[in-house]
Amino acid sequence: MADTAVDPTTAAGREPREHSQDPPLADVVPDVAPDSARPTHAGPLATAQTQLAGAIRRLGFDEGMHAMLATPRREINVAIPLRRDDGTTELFHGFRVQHNVSRGPGKGGLRYHPSVDVDEVRALAMWMTWKCAVVELPYGGAKGGVAIDPRNYSTAELERVTRRYTSEIMPMIGPERDIMAPDIGTDAQTMAWVMDTYSVNRGYTIPGVVTGKPLEVGGSLGRATATSQGVVHAASAAIREQGLELSDVRVAVQGFGKVGSHAAAIFGQSGARVEAVSDQYGGVHRSGGIDVPRLLDHVRETGSVVGFAEADPLGNADLLTLDVDVLVPAAVEGVLTHENADQVKARWVVEGANGPTTARADEILADRGVVVVPDILANAGGVVVSYFEWVQAQQAYWWTETEIEQRLAERMLHAYDAVAEVARREQVPLRDAALLIGVQRVAQAHRTRGLYP
Ligand code: GLU
Repeated sequence: MADTAVDPTTAAGREPREHSQDPPLADVVPDVAPDSARPTHAGPLATAQTQLAGAIRRLGFDEGMHAMLATPRREINVAIPLRRDDGTTELFHGFRVQHNVSRGPGKGGLRYHPSVDVDEVRALAMWMTWKCAVVELPYGGAKGGVAIDPRNYSTAELERVTRRYTSEIMPMIGPERDIMAPDIGTDAQTMAWVMDTYSVNRGYTIPGVVTGKPLEVGGSLGRATATSQGVVHAASAAIREQGLELSDVRVAVQGFGKVGSHAAAIFGQSGARVEAVSDQYGGVHRSGGIDVPRLLDHVRETGSVVGFAEADPLGNADLLTLDVDVLVPAAVEGVLTHENADQVKARWVVEGANGPTTARADEILADRGVVVVPDILANAGGVVVSYFEWVQAQQAYWWTETEIEQRLAERMLHAYDAVAEVARREQVPLRDAALLIGVQRVAQAHRTRGLYP
């Protein structure tokens, strides 16, 4: 869309504010949560708490409701000893946080990453609560994590870590309690180990304890690409509001893992020009569009997008400020900050990752007229098809790929329309609108159930 691209810095009627630096943590984190829910550093939990505080203010909820929604309902912290292949032992820290279960069992991924800590898991669990509410799934929000770099361990070692972690958190999980799924550093095989460990201990096969499983043990068609497909539905709905189609836009995707790689491929198949992608090792750029299937071949051979001969090298940070129409951060939290948000040239930011934009960056982007389609809406396709997988497993009756694709599209577009409608009515960005809907639905369920005793 090079000819019709709008420079967001010149969007009509907007005066840029001063954004010299992010405020100190004390200013952004509301003093309502008990110590256990207060972040120890300005990371994702500070972002999540700031977002919640904004929604609470708009909804006019009292302090008691705010404290309840700011605080995880239940969390467990486990030590995971691993016997390595060479006979030595190593210890890892793992977590499972159920942020809220007012609307149904906890739901959310399991992350293996060296920087995982309890605050990050709390933030991710809170985002799952709002996400499930926004797309109207009968779930609360949960998340798990182990502080491990899976690239440094053999498959057998990862299996032992996964089984020990599962066994340690066993009392907290189950198809009616808390249902796991893949996230960064975990995959369908990890879910099969979790399901097997849980099932063997219970004495029978219980596929509903995890989603994102391999097909042969009760996985669903369409789950592997669901998050990415949902990102493309959300992007398409957002740009259609401006009278454009996917074939009109240039896209940059940060992250070439489970979400980013499929998103790039689906954007390409849908007619968009994918001009840049990056992974943790670096990025590549080609004006006019990258041949994504050929890039996927290159990644299969070499393990990275770096060195792809049909495109120019590009720094990972430079991708975020590239002159494209749609930017899809699909890697980790906190990549769009007060330091780079004023240089983003994209007109739409569609969040494939959870929490890629800090609260301060959000304000800067909104001031500049950049439309942010927020994580709790844009990347909800994954948990939507997780829900379909869970429903199929509970009924032992399997749907066709077409049925899944249609139901996913319906749910994503319905949720997008509801969020866009609130954004228009309340004159707020899409993130604020999605949070208003999510937080309101959770609070409503909480009030209707009443307090016990
Ligand atoms: N990890 C994904 C997310 O953050 C999927 C969660 C799920 O399917 O439960 O949304």
